[in-house]
Amino acid sequence: MSSVVSLLQQLEAERIDTVQLQFTDLMGAVKAVSIPSSRLADVLDRGVNFDGSSVEGFARGEESDMRLVPDLATACRWRSEFGGRALRLICDVVLPDGLPFAGDPRRILARAAARAAAAGAPEMLVSAELEFFLLPQGERLEDAHLRDPARYFDAPSSDFAARCLRLIAEGLSEAGIPATQIHHEAAPHQYEIDLAPLPPVPAADAIITAKLAIRREAARFGFTASFMPKPFTDHPGSGLHLTFAPAGEEAAVSRGASFAAGILEHARGLSAIASPTVNSYKRLGGSEAPGFVGWSDRHPAPYLRAVGSAWEWRAPDASANPYLAIACALAAGSDGIEQAMPLPNRLDERPEIWSEEQRFLRRVAALPETLRDALDALEQDECLQAALGDHAMHHFLEAKRLEWEAYARTVHVWEREQYLTL
Ligand code: GLU
Ligand code: MG
Ligand code: MG
Repeated sequence: MSSVVSLLQQLEAERIDTVQLQFTDLMGAVKAVSIPSSRLADVLDRGVNFDGSSVEGFARGEESDMRLVPDLATACRWRSEFGGRALRLICDVVLPDGLPFAGDPRRILARAAARAAAAGAPEMLVSAELEFFLLPQGERLEDAHLRDPARYFDAPSSDFAARCLRLIAEGLSEAGIPATQIHHEAAPHQYEIDLAPLPPVPAADAIITAKLAIRREAARFGFTASFMPKPFTDHPGSGLHLTFAPAGEEAAVSRGASFAAGILEHARGLSAIASPTVNSYKRLGGSEAPGFVGWSDRHPAPYLRAVGSAWEWRAPDASANPYLAIACALAAGSDGIEQAMPLPNRLDERPEIWSEEQRFLRRVAALPETLRDALDALEQDECLQAALGDHAMHHFLEAKRLEWEAYARTVHVWEREQYLTL
């Protein structure tokens, strides 16, 4: 209770007038409600009610009453969209009877982490590499993206972008998630910000917070920050690499190999969660984004990269809901540990250039090539189904199948260019 008192004192002392309460829908979109600071004590006591039936993936038949319960550990200073000083709190979602809502992604991750511990998985610290484009607003993307001459690791070539990145870094450290590294990525206007290792739930909290802070600062400079997996046909896409570092004793660390084996085993089912948009599949298989399942500690762009005792999972992109992506990776890894799965042979080459027969003989599995194939693979994966729970699994598949159908029905520019005068 004392932390509540000190939080209220802090609001008073720092003249913080607004508190923003946030949570995440099933697809990973951040939802928020702002309250005046004077209401916080009451909200900490009783929560805030909202209509769950209007939130993507939350609807539960006739019942729609849900409640937000702020997690005090997530308190951080926040730049309010109204100009004032704000405090930000991330919330858990509960039902009217006070029980946790099974479709809350944050809850799904907390449960997956608890199950992983029960399965004997080492405690994992998760760090994230967020790649994104900063694109000048109000210009055709095709024109805008050609103007930045900088490439991978180049020193900032425009003062404007450099200032924007500095403010992004400030915004992140203000929110309590300092960046460990910022650099220019391979494509023009493409950058990467790396976040420090954290336990699973805070790591996912940090990713959604970082995306918001990056978008907000970029907009102030007239840039659109885009986390779209593959915005340009001829330039590398943007990934969200997640590194799992086992903490603790050597024995725990050695179980990391089975953890990695579990992720490889479930890679096809994980695809729909790690790469959940139509566009995700245009990123995979090119420009250092994996197309095949395997691990290596030499090759720079495998599906899983061994870095010391840590495992960098290179498949996800930032269109993923980070709570669900980390939850499903923990579930797959725990399955590997429970079944004592051996790590397959290292894959140091790129199977993209092999024949189908070579891939078959060396037993290298391809990732799903479309969102539809990925959804079919997820539907068949019982381990991931258990991690997500029936509610989230059902709503996720339903929404994503509709997304795929809308895309498949649409006549695209490419088709008209190819076929109009056929
Ligand atoms: N942009 C690449 C991707 O989409 C990754 C490049 C890198 O290794 O940092 O995954
Ligand atoms: Mg990178
Ligand atoms: Mg990386």
